[in-house]
Amino acid sequence: MSTPVLEVRNLVTELPIRAGVLRREVGRVQAVSDVSFDLMPNETLGVVGESGCGKTTLGRSLLRLIEPTSGSVRLGDVEITTADRKSMIGIRSRLQMVFQDPYASLNPRIPVRDIIAEPMRIHGVSKDEAAERVADLLRRVGLLPEHGNRYPHEFSGGQRQRIGIARSLALRPRIIILDEPVSALDVSIQAQVLNLLAEIQDEFQLSYVFIAHDLSVVRHTSDRVAVMYLGKIVEIGIRDEIYDTPAHPYTHSLLSAVPVADPRRERSRQRIILQGDVPSPANPPAGCRFHTRCPIAQDRCRTDAPELRTVVSGQQVACHFPLEPGQTLVDISSR
Ligand code: SF4
Repeated sequence: MSTPVLEVRNLVTELPIRAGVLRREVGRVQAVSDVSFDLMPNETLGVVGESGCGKTTLGRSLLRLIEPTSGSVRLGDVEITTADRKSMIGIRSRLQMVFQDPYASLNPRIPVRDIIAEPMRIHGVSKDEAAERVADLLRRVGLLPEHGNRYPHEFSGGQRQRIGIARSLALRPRIIILDEPVSALDVSIQAQVLNLLAEIQDEFQLSYVFIAHDLSVVRHTSDRVAVMYLGKIVEIGIRDEIYDTPAHPYTHSLLSAVPVADPRRERSRQRIILQGDVPSPANPPAGCRFHTRCPIAQDRCRTDAPELRTVVSGQQVACHFPLEPGQTLVDISSR
């Protein structure tokens, strides 16, 4: 049994709520609420959920681009949440991030070779070695070494994301947090970038946390999947178990919107439309946070918050009344 490369335990990240002209803090919202998971070597963990569920805040909290409020994130024997500035420089060489918007994340005034070389400069890599490594990295992501002389605006969205990937590889990390890495790209370009990510994962023995709202992309890329709702992981498990036998009603409703390739199963697919809006994370419902929209909620759901526990099909689910394999939400709610 291999050791996790990243261990996240009871992670909580609160964000300030600001109001007024002076943007005074008027409260706090728990964007990430008691999240725990392991990331294994060479594994891709997909993190999915609706917009505002906390998945991007989770990704940023792992790297302390947003400071977590409590909990633990361990990278090997290093505790990230309490690491000092100097240790964080070392941590960031092993744990990197690729952002959704490749244009906003690349400094427009700096040529691409310096963007990619910057992390190496911080880590004391010599100029000559950095230049050589930048040329190699540009080739590796499908660009040319001479592209290093150009500026970000001279590239297409797909090329800019390749530059972001090259920069993330500059220090040969073990883990990359991919925050919606293809959602800003045309569908035709998405497949190319996803293939590149798969190739470099094998070549550099990387582990990925793949944050996305597109469930088809996550199915294609991930070994395991975590489903988030209002800051919490409500279901986590092996990809095929999650997609074939979702046990949490929320996962079931999310997946019911995804077309399936098998024409027979596609014909029988029943779309579940959830009623109501996602409640405000600033004021989450008591008990199960999903109870205000859950078609099978019962009295207990309104008072008792369910813990993650392992169910028949193998995944961990936070639900008092998880679906059994083969059971559908439509069957239960129409009883
Ligand atoms: Fe629905 Fe209750 Fe399960 Fe929450 S605990 S998902 S409200 S059945």
